Amino acid sequence: MSEKLKPCPHCGGEARSVTGWTPKGTCKSFVICTKCETSTKTYFVNYQYYEISKEEAANKAKQEAIAAWNERYTSWNLLMEILDKHYPADVFSDPESQLSKDAGSQIVTKLREINELRAKTKRGR
Ligand SMILES: [Zn+2]
Repeated sequence: MSEKLKPCPHCGGEARSVTGWTPKGTCKSFVICTKCETSTKTYFVNYQYYEISKEEAANKAKQEAIAAWNERYTSWNLLMEILDKHYPADVFSDPESQLSKDAGSQIVTKLREINELRAKTKRGR
């Protein structure tokens, strides 16, 4: 009953969950993109510390890594949806206007640039 992995937030590649053990009984898990090798941090769960079985520790570490991976994908898409809804693509199109010089408009402009770069990267693969 493990949660399904979303595609890589950077290149759209397939993601893979990796789980292993340290010699002292701590399960370690992370998620990595099979194309560009972007990964989450490694999540450690020691079964003795939590007083759970080794299997439960493995599941916990794995689920924490998967949740972090999926959150990264979801949060970017949500951010772009909010941007599209409240700041249409052409709202700050004139770089010379006073409005384009405030921090808010610069942030929106940068986010759009990043989104275009991400889309280009995905198409290029
Ligand atoms: Zn990737």
